[in-house]
Amino acid sequence: MCGIVGAVAQRDVVDILVEGLRRLEYRGYDSAGVAVVTEAGELTRLRRLGKVKELSDAVAAQPVAGGTGIAHTRWATHGEPSERNAHPHVSSNITVVHNGIIENHSPLRDALKAKGYVFTSDTDTEVIAHLVEEELKAAGSLLAAVQKTVKQLHGAYGTVLMDKTDSSRVVVARSGSPLVIGLGIGENFIASDQLALLPVTRRFMFLEEGDVAEITRHSVSIFDKDGNAIEREVHESNVSYDAGDKGQYRHFMLKEIYEQPHAINNTLEGRLSADSVLDETFGNGAAELFKKVKHVQIVACGTSYHSGMVARYWLESLGGISCNVEIASEFRYRKSFVQPNSLLVSISQSGETADTLAALRLAKEAGYLGSLTICNVAGSSLVRESDLAFMTRAGAEIGVASTKAFTTQLVGLAMLTMAIGKYNGLTAVQQRELTDALKSLPAKLEQTLALAPQIEALAEEFADKHHSLFLGRGDQYPIAMEGALKLKEISYIHAEAYAAGELKHGPLALIDAEMPIIVVAPNNELLEKLQSNVEEVRARGGILYVFADADAKFQSDDTMRVINVPHVADILAPIVYTLPLQLLSYYVAIIKGTDVDQPRNLAKSVTVE
Ligand code: GLU
Repeated sequence: MCGIVGAVAQRDVVDILVEGLRRLEYRGYDSAGVAVVTEAGELTRLRRLGKVKELSDAVAAQPVAGGTGIAHTRWATHGEPSERNAHPHVSSNITVVHNGIIENHSPLRDALKAKGYVFTSDTDTEVIAHLVEEELKAAGSLLAAVQKTVKQLHGAYGTVLMDKTDSSRVVVARSGSPLVIGLGIGENFIASDQLALLPVTRRFMFLEEGDVAEITRHSVSIFDKDGNAIEREVHESNVSYDAGDKGQYRHFMLKEIYEQPHAINNTLEGRLSADSVLDETFGNGAAELFKKVKHVQIVACGTSYHSGMVARYWLESLGGISCNVEIASEFRYRKSFVQPNSLLVSISQSGETADTLAALRLAKEAGYLGSLTICNVAGSSLVRESDLAFMTRAGAEIGVASTKAFTTQLVGLAMLTMAIGKYNGLTAVQQRELTDALKSLPAKLEQTLALAPQIEALAEEFADKHHSLFLGRGDQYPIAMEGALKLKEISYIHAEAYAAGELKHGPLALIDAEMPIIVVAPNNELLEKLQSNVEEVRARGGILYVFADADAKFQSDDTMRVINVPHVADILAPIVYTLPLQLLSYYVAIIKGTDVDQPRNLAKSVTVE
């Protein structure tokens, strides 16, 4: 789930490995470790609970060196976060790091124990080390031992192994957790994300599911799941990464909130003509496919699921077709009915979200017309495995709580609505209006960000609260859900979202002066209904925080704080109203003193189910 970095080089690789881990820090983790081996076969392993800084301090205090090494940041799935459970794990000569979950670790552990292997951690990962040690007895090479081992593993893994008796190579295997090989000159690298390797190379090979590879200083040999030698294309990366640089901002999250007007400019660039979305926006063959589409099935998790929920409102009201949205972890484990002429749309920032990827793979067998992914990471598994891809171009998102990835997804989904809608009754006039609206979005977002000082002042009132309720209607209901998710993720305040019409079916019982109620109220056709819901809350002594269009005529008083949001076209409202909610959760988290960019227990890219 978290970070893997590895290297085979002539020079000492410790700093490269630790810097690589630092660049993956934003994913969230609980411990970190590194192991290096010298040509003389000396293995040194250092592991620390907590941040990469603890590990780099340990490396500074007890200098270690080696030309071949592996390093890991762990997000515990089996065994508590602790030094003894931190990776790398060792079995005699074999050292391993692993991302993911070995589901059959328990029977494997029992069988290995029966053979005399002694376990020193509670992790599922340690079985890999001992299994490879065992297989190496008969196999002629580390590569052959790993190939035999992976056949016995169920679950998800990105794993890297080295043998201290042969420092000339590492062997890596991928199934369900991403791995990318970085190509250097006279040295080669491996990582779970290219970001980790950008200081040393820009040339990458992405491993496919089931691949096992042997990496030396001068060669990369890749074998597919059947053991056939195979070539994987070399990609030149143009990803930029400024991890060390938060600029003027105190946190990456705040930087990313403020980057949204610029990010959305990038999302829009080259994709709109004067009056419509360009056909090429969704890639070759998109227009042909969209002509036939009569239903869209969206699958996603977390924040991306909320963008999918907004898209459902748009696709049905403007796109002229039906749409279902489902959480990927539910979708993948139930038998679902495939509507005729359906397009499967997956949404994910990283493109590696395990459940979403599994849903896409299942859908391929199920009779969909085709698949499209809305994604922020070029070359990711979802992008490679989908028929069509829309890159959100948000730039690297480092804060664990998603901000610009979400709003750029929404822009992509608005364009998808237009691209499909034009075959289903969306008129030329409507297309032009939507095009103009999207073009005006970056400026509207700049105006909205100017509300920050007012929102910062408001946040003070949340500091001692333990619960909160977010309300919205129509396409603002998912925005209320996203606002609640943001608040709980980074301030740890319990937050729930309700479609405002549901209030009287239960949640009104919760209303008192201790329960802040946040309302998103653009001036749309549901405004009057929402105004009635606001009165229902007021009549029961609730304190309201209303983000509203000035024309909606909400007035601040003792029980209601009103923040006026710029007036925008209906299609833009979900995107624009997201920003004040992001800022609110950010400032509440600051007051509460939480770790904004790396909230407890969370990881950025959820590559395990
Ligand atoms: N399942 C392994 C463990 O708990 C790896 C977790 C990870 O992906 O970091 O140690």
